[in-house]
Amino acid sequence: MPRGACPDCKAVVHVDEDADKGDTVECDECGANLRLVGLDPIELDSEDSYEDDDGYKEEEEDDDDDY
Ligand SMILES: [Zn+2]
Repeated sequence: MPRGACPDCKAVVHVDEDADKGDTVECDECGANLRLVGLDPIELDSEDSYEDDDGYKEEEEDDDDDY
């Protein structure tokens, strides 16, 4: 199964073999919605800016400074 890296948390994200460019996958690690922007190699882009336009917007900018 092809794998890519989550741009948010750098975790390995498994991509469906029959996934296509533009498909969205969810990162198992951080739950981010990722858009498949490249297939060879697998390239994933954060989908944060593609949120549904129904007035609901969840900002995830609470930086945890715990390191
Ligand atoms: Zn992630």
